[in-house]
Amino acid sequence: MAKINPHYQKLRTEYIFPVIEQKLADLKKRFPKASIVNLGIGDIAQPLVPSIVTAICSAVEEMGKKSSLRGYGPSEGYDFLRQAIAKNEFAHLGIGADEIFISDGANSDTANIQELFDLNSTIGITDPTYPVYLDANVMAGRSKKILFLPCTEKTRFLPVPPKKHCDLIYLCSPSNPTGVAFTRKELAAWVSYAKKEGAILLYDNAYVAFITSPDVPRSIFEIEGAKEVAVEFRSFSKSAGFTGLRCAYTILPKTVLAHLGSKLVSLHALWKRRQNTKSNGVAYPIQRGAEAVFTKQGKKETEAQVKSYLAQAAYLRKGLLSLGYNCFGGIDSPYIWWKTPKGLSSWEFFDLLLEKCHLISVPGKGFGPSGEGYVRLSSFTSPEIAKEALKRIKRL
Ligand code: PLP
Repeated sequence: MAKINPHYQKLRTEYIFPVIEQKLADLKKRFPKASIVNLGIGDIAQPLVPSIVTAICSAVEEMGKKSSLRGYGPSEGYDFLRQAIAKNEFAHLGIGADEIFISDGANSDTANIQELFDLNSTIGITDPTYPVYLDANVMAGRSKKILFLPCTEKTRFLPVPPKKHCDLIYLCSPSNPTGVAFTRKELAAWVSYAKKEGAILLYDNAYVAFITSPDVPRSIFEIEGAKEVAVEFRSFSKSAGFTGLRCAYTILPKTVLAHLGSKLVSLHALWKRRQNTKSNGVAYPIQRGAEAVFTKQGKKETEAQVKSYLAQAAYLRKGLLSLGYNCFGGIDSPYIWWKTPKGLSSWEFFDLLLEKCHLISVPGKGFGPSGEGYVRLSSFTSPEIAKEALKRIKRL
């Protein structure tokens, strides 16, 4: 009989979203006509913008012609897209197109990057966390090698460098789930830690497009020394509505090194090798669609979408604060981290919002024990729904 990977048995069984789905299904059974306001899901709420649709459609038409057919593309991504990213996002930081790897998602990249490292590596993971980092490392067999970094009100819901040693640290800023982002000073402290400890920072910057605060860096590579110790992950999912298309990228400077015995090895070369073996790249039309994000029209259209999500975040945040609730995030992020009132647990407050307001949130505890006492609201919705949500919350 074939044997399974025993580490899969160590994954947390209560994955939050199926539980939420079940609670919602129960509510719908009891109130079949209930109109549900869903501020739980972190998925886009607006259609693809016209310039992306046009670029994808013309790429497909191109592929339908014998003279311009396309087969497998390069596993690191087409040069036209790597160049567009380098020119538009990283020219001022001295990152080259060949240090950018295109992929089908920041989800896969943040989950896969750990393969490059020794199984005995200690992994720093925030509590609460975007669950992928933890699960990927548990699946790989590192369940006993995780150092949790609490993110509480005292730490501004962001991790602070620990006294203990970590080899790899996952940092997510602007953070999912807490919706807050590192300032330059806070991030510089992590770069110093990584230098001192010989650690590598895995910086998930999937929400870069939502940054509005001037003291929040748009890339970790704005911090001096980061090019020796950091890998950055970005995605077109939330910045340009690509959740259903799949396109993201990882920035891995050639200067990031790690030990192999007494030798120093380039992570860039290893990641290239890994991608060449395990990926046949992202579909050509999707990469053409991503390229269109950097055109004048593409920028205008996608920035308008992000702005509208941010406006809804600001509206919800302001509304909650004016009602006397305590909430965080929602300034550089589409997420609001809402402190539960009257000491209610995350799930108790989730249930209350569902029962009394027919409103879906996400219990903070689902992202880790330090998420207890909070729920996450997402502003990936329409202005009408955001308004309706607040109206119902006012009646609580
Ligand atoms: N990283 C974070 C912090 C996210 O919140 C998400 C999606 O919600 C992802 C990565 C996934 O991005 P992608 O759609 O590119 O896989």
